[in-house]
Amino acid sequence: MTAAVQLPVRLPAGGPNAVATAFGLLGDEWSLLILRYALQGVRRYADWRSRLPISDAVLTSRLTRLAEQGLLERVAYQERPVRYAYRLTERGRTVWPVLVAVWGWEYRWVDTHREELPWMRHAECGRHMEPVLACGGCGDCVEPRDVRSELGPSGEDGRSIPSAATRRRSAAGTEGGAGLFPETMALLGNRWSVAMLGAAFLGAHRFGEFQQRLGAPPSMVADRLRTFAALGVLEAESGTYRLTPKGRGFFPVVMTLIDWGQRWYESPEGPALVSLHRGCGRELAPRLVCGECGGGLSERGVEVVGDTTAP
Ligand SMILES: [Zn+2]
Ligand SMILES: [Zn+2]
Repeated sequence: MTAAVQLPVRLPAGGPNAVATAFGLLGDEWSLLILRYALQGVRRYADWRSRLPISDAVLTSRLTRLAEQGLLERVAYQERPVRYAYRLTERGRTVWPVLVAVWGWEYRWVDTHREELPWMRHAECGRHMEPVLACGGCGDCVEPRDVRSELGPSGEDGRSIPSAATRRRSAAGTEGGAGLFPETMALLGNRWSVAMLGAAFLGAHRFGEFQQRLGAPPSMVADRLRTFAALGVLEAESGTYRLTPKGRGFFPVVMTLIDWGQRWYESPEGPALVSLHRGCGRELAPRLVCGECGGGLSERGVEVVGDTTAP
């Protein structure tokens, strides 16, 4: 069985760009969890159902959506009655750095969570590790201040903000969340939070700068700034807002997510965001490396240890 080479999706001109599309799809906790288990080898409905506190309606809707978007491929494995399995495509498989980055951030920064999370071992050095973001061009580790990002031709006019429509299905209150990555979801699961975080990484410090970059009502900006301060991601200091170490620590999640989005979705006008590594001057290709030995991480090079739900 050889799968056809998967090509990027051409997005309509003038509409939501690659960044909005990626955050709209993956800023959903259930989808991330389904992909996480798929990467560990889960293929069948019943196997997700038994591992996740998920309802049939939600699991069905997410599997359908991930298949429609080409992250999973539905294949019949039984004829009478017909039953389907879901296989990861290349587009789905390449979400792994995002999941590793989410895991690393929760492990490092969410105290209440640390006890419950399995830990990751880097197969090559054999050590318990946390992932670190590096530049694929020169190999150096990168922090937000090492990166200069500029809006690309499809990045203007709020086109990086996920549309409300793509969010409706995951709206809290109708379905709820899994609650397994609560703080990640506080940052990724709300369209204005994502935009706020993006503005902070692009250098916004003042209320007016956030408001201008988001094009959001002042009450929304104020509400998000309060939430971010409560999470310890931003801190207010005499009228300016700065990312804390915990906020800067989320950078690998955002960069791997944007990288995935721009690899798989293309606006005809061009990219949404262009990021340069100041250190080497090249366009930043985000890579995750092992925080212990510095070696590059690969999908198979990251072993999850102590996960009792693994298949
Ligand atoms: Zn570099
Ligand atoms: Zn290592």
